[in-house]
Amino acid sequence: MCNEPMQVYVPRGYDYREITVRCGNTSPSGDPWLCDKCAVIHKDRNWRQEALENGEQWDEEEGVG
Ligand SMILES: [Zn+2]
Repeated sequence: MCNEPMQVYVPRGYDYREITVRCGNTSPSGDPWLCDKCAVIHKDRNWRQEALENGEQWDEEEGVG
């Protein structure tokens, strides 16, 4: 994850709201938000499975890079 700011849409009532997050932040669904570039790089990863295996520490593993 590159940690770049990015815009995402989250459900809000009957509508959607645009918010700014950072690539790699965890979304309400439990999956990380990824920019297009990182989504391609990490497309084969199973985030929920890794989160289960690593507890809540799966962000640290990626470091800053
Ligand atoms: Zn990224």
